Amino acid sequence: MAKRSKRQLGFATQCVRAGDPVDDQWGSVAPPIYQTSTFASADTRAQWEIIEGKRPGHCYTRYSNPTTRGLEVKVAALEGGEDAVAFASGMAAVSACVLACVKAGDHVVVQRDVYGGTFEVFHRLLPRFGVKVATVNATDLAQVRAAARRGTKLLYVETPANPLLSVVDLAGVAAIGRKVGATTMCDSTFATPANCRPLEFGIDVVLHSATKYLGGHADVMAGVAVATTAFCDRLEDMLRILGGVLDPFAAWLVTRGIKSLGPRVAVHNANAMACAEFLAGHSRVRAVHYPGLPSHPQHELAKRQMRGFGGVLSFEVDGTARATSAVVDRLRMFRVAPSLGAVESLALQPAATTHSKLSPRERKAVGIRDSLVRLACGIESAEDLVDDLRQALGGRRRR
Ligand SMILES: *Cc1c(COP(=O)(O)O)cnc(C)c1O
Repeated sequence: MAKRSKRQLGFATQCVRAGDPVDDQWGSVAPPIYQTSTFASADTRAQWEIIEGKRPGHCYTRYSNPTTRGLEVKVAALEGGEDAVAFASGMAAVSACVLACVKAGDHVVVQRDVYGGTFEVFHRLLPRFGVKVATVNATDLAQVRAAARRGTKLLYVETPANPLLSVVDLAGVAAIGRKVGATTMCDSTFATPANCRPLEFGIDVVLHSATKYLGGHADVMAGVAVATTAFCDRLEDMLRILGGVLDPFAAWLVTRGIKSLGPRVAVHNANAMACAEFLAGHSRVRAVHYPGLPSHPQHELAKRQMRGFGGVLSFEVDGTARATSAVVDRLRMFRVAPSLGAVESLALQPAATTHSKLSPRERKAVGIRDSLVRLACGIESAEDLVDDLRQALGGRRRR
């Protein structure tokens, strides 16, 4: 009889179970919350050994905490990485990861259409410390190759990227990084490990705003980065200095959110596809941007690199900026709000809100028209989301 091969646990199972501490004392099924800033040791010597990492244990929550540690182990398992470090927000993760890599005089390459806060780290913060920053359209690997040079410290990308859902070739970026000796970093917030696992393509560091899909319920701010044990040691060092640690209760909320990540992302994916297909056939819509549609410029790449296409899409209303605001304001199921990845559907007009600080010319350079609307599909019934889009585009008055 053939021996049963040892199969890796399925993704949804890992979401539920990985990293959860076993409670020998009471058998608690939900992981306990260690809401404490400090931990008492048996004596001074024991405390010293814990601080030095010579014996297991915790000493102070800015250094480590069992609830936060459970979250880190869970996310590392989901991304297929050696270890992970949790942060107080996505931006705390981004800034610590970047600062762990660079010093004055270094050269880095960053994608043009990264998240706004990340853009500020690269274009406002790093130049103040003498780091040279090259910006590229990362959907064009030739541009990445031309910008990267021997000694480039960091190649930073985001896929899919906001708000046009451009998809970056991760294996291609990883190969360029290896060639020049740069650390490659990918913000995978929009994809989640359910849809894409950047480490599988050779990327060195994957990071998330866990405020979005990992938390999943618009009720907590958090960030997390996954990498080798050696890189995570450097990140922990950064975290102790910079101080952007995750509160244990927030870590617990993210842990709880991730338990349903598998089935949740499947519904986000299906709802976004239903909305994209409806919008693509609507007479008042000029264009739909969604990696799941064959019309998307990187659709073939997305099919190779992603297991699902995600819950975010954007579209262009055939009309003026004002007419576009009117469509957004008529939506009832989609709430008008920034952020994404929640069970609730959200919508916004980037040119009038998240990207209003850019000049019209800068917006044009990144392809953001005044008529663009971004949708973050929640997990409501798809028919209700489509009905809402139909009535909003139909131009009837808000009840
Ligand atoms: C929201 C977001 C961030 C920043 O995360 P915060 O949790 O808001 O600090 C970074 N990257 C992407 C892609 C995001 O959507």
